[in-house]
Amino acid sequence: MADYQAPLRDIRFVLNEVFDAPNFWASLPGVADNVDPDTADAILEEAGKITAGTLAPINREGDEQGCQWNDGEVTTPEGFREAYKTMAEGGWVGLGGNPEFGGMGMPKTLVAQFEEMMQGANMSFGLAPMLTAGACVALDAHGSQELKETYLPKMYDGSWTGAMDLTEPHAGTDLGIIRTKAEPRDDGSYSITGTKIFITWGEHDMTDNIIHFVLAKLPDAPKGPKGISMFLVPKYDVNEDGSLGERNHFSCGSLEKKMGIKASATCVMNFDGAKGYLVGEPNKGLMAMFTMMNYERLGVGVQGLGAAEASLQNARDYAMERTQSRAPTGPQEKDKAADPIIVHPDVRRMLLTMKGYVEGGRAFSTYVAQWLDVAKFAEDEERRKQGDAMVALLTPVAKAFLTDRGLDACVIGQQIFGGHGFIREWGQEQLVRDTRITQIYEGTNGIQAMDLMGRKVVANQGKYFELFAKDVAAFIEENSDNDALRPYLGQLAAALERLDDVTETVIKQAGENPNEVGAAAVDYLDLFGLTALGYMWAMMVKAAAPKAQDDTSGFYTGKLKTARFYFDRLLPKTVSLAEGIRSGSGAMMAHSAEEF
Ligand SMILES: Cc1cc2nc3c(=O)[nH]c(=O)nc-3n(C[C@H](O)[C@H](O)[C@H](O)COP(=O)(O)OP(=O)(O)OC[C@H]3O[C@@H](n4cnc5c(N)ncnc54)[C@H](O)[C@@H]3O)c2cc1C
Repeated sequence: MADYQAPLRDIRFVLNEVFDAPNFWASLPGVADNVDPDTADAILEEAGKITAGTLAPINREGDEQGCQWNDGEVTTPEGFREAYKTMAEGGWVGLGGNPEFGGMGMPKTLVAQFEEMMQGANMSFGLAPMLTAGACVALDAHGSQELKETYLPKMYDGSWTGAMDLTEPHAGTDLGIIRTKAEPRDDGSYSITGTKIFITWGEHDMTDNIIHFVLAKLPDAPKGPKGISMFLVPKYDVNEDGSLGERNHFSCGSLEKKMGIKASATCVMNFDGAKGYLVGEPNKGLMAMFTMMNYERLGVGVQGLGAAEASLQNARDYAMERTQSRAPTGPQEKDKAADPIIVHPDVRRMLLTMKGYVEGGRAFSTYVAQWLDVAKFAEDEERRKQGDAMVALLTPVAKAFLTDRGLDACVIGQQIFGGHGFIREWGQEQLVRDTRITQIYEGTNGIQAMDLMGRKVVANQGKYFELFAKDVAAFIEENSDNDALRPYLGQLAAALERLDDVTETVIKQAGENPNEVGAAAVDYLDLFGLTALGYMWAMMVKAAAPKAQDDTSGFYTGKLKTARFYFDRLLPKTVSLAEGIRSGSGAMMAHSAEEF
């Protein structure tokens, strides 16, 4: 199993050479004072060291040991408690946090790179800082000043973690039917009662306090999603002087035994009249939770990306060392009994498919992060609104496309190992098991696709989509004279036109038949993702081409060759996806229940 290496060379390429991040940051008032190129570079360097040096080494052992439950207490695998302390001391949990409450105020474009490294090194562990950072986003956006002052500094500095408690035994996707209740108390707080399941890091021994963000219903709440409120429910209440007070009335009933991310605790949480504080307005909790989830969704997409990078590193090393059979064109290493498997076209197909998705995915997550920064920090209100629209449109694509391709990359990597990929020793089977959940939690990928197709495209008649299409079209137009890009711009323009045409078709069909949205959704999201990555690869060609001539490292020439593979072998998948979508919902809805 290859040791995880932080992909700093490629991260720096994407940030500095493709997106010109230093100038972008300098243009944003809330960011310009917090980060300059040297600071950003030092952060990346340290992130590489801590993720590869502290988190990766406890990944395998963590999977072996898992978390242990004993009478409501949860013990984490060896090294996890110390690792969380190390991360806390380095300020990593509050990297993107609000400086007013002790966060470091770094832009998402930078934070996303750290997150990728953390998730690639150790996904089970990475969930704790990720959920904590997401909880802080929701609290910062919707909490009262008092709640923010009490909780944010301790969460940013890593003293306490955050957990999000939405799911109940009978309510996962459909949160409108949750049963957890919140009764007002005389002192202005609430009494929370109910059972939540699948709560990640709901209980553990890594920090002294755990702050739960719980969805519950007030006594007079309207039925459905419009009757949900959000409550902050600390494991230990906090005294006025900041010290920890009484143990709250809730506990971890058990841990789930699961397929992957075994080192993370997935908890059943029983709330029995627990003291909670309302965050945001009554009955508007789902909106508050979505603030956190929108941020998390890119985070989960980045989990898929991180795992895909780890798989690529493993498989690339293995393909260069493992010798089997001769190259179709004759022996390449005559002194050996067989050639390294990297000579075989099919092994190259697998490696390049991974590389195409990983490097394209890294650029795409940075592109989405850039829009998140625009939405949050841009000076001009119109520009912030544009950022909001792009984030709304692109977030489901980032979550679902990056995790679908992430799992693909882990399975492909496993395939490159042959039978050894199925064996524990090489790490591939853990990657496959760990990454599978990313397609399911934070809203299944099917639901992400429905969100994209239904709410973000059809509901506004393609208004957000046009913003994205214009961005790609402007790039094509601006670079029409670029010799290096010319071979690709035609293919990119054709893919964009295909996506545009399908978008129009589905909007029209949806007006006639409500089943069309759901029938098109998953394939549409794939078509969108492939086209978006085509755009990313074109941007990368633009940045790499001028440097490729004198390149002795192989970095820039490799980039151009991977771009060629992407355009020749992966982007054409858009043709069959478009064809399938155009056929409509008929074949899907024709069966009666018996016919299944
Ligand atoms: C390891 C792990 C960690 C988790 N961590 C957390 C956590 O920290 N906090 C938390 O609150 N939850 C957490 N979850 C829960 C997770 O978010 C849910 O499992 C997920 O949202 C799906 O809900 P469900 O399991 O009830 O599936 P269901 O909602 O029952 O869905 C079943 C299937 O039906 C499909 N479906 C449902 N409704 C529709 C529809 N309208 N249209 C089309 N298809 C539909 C779904 O896509 C899915 O394929 C975690 C789960 C796991 C396994």
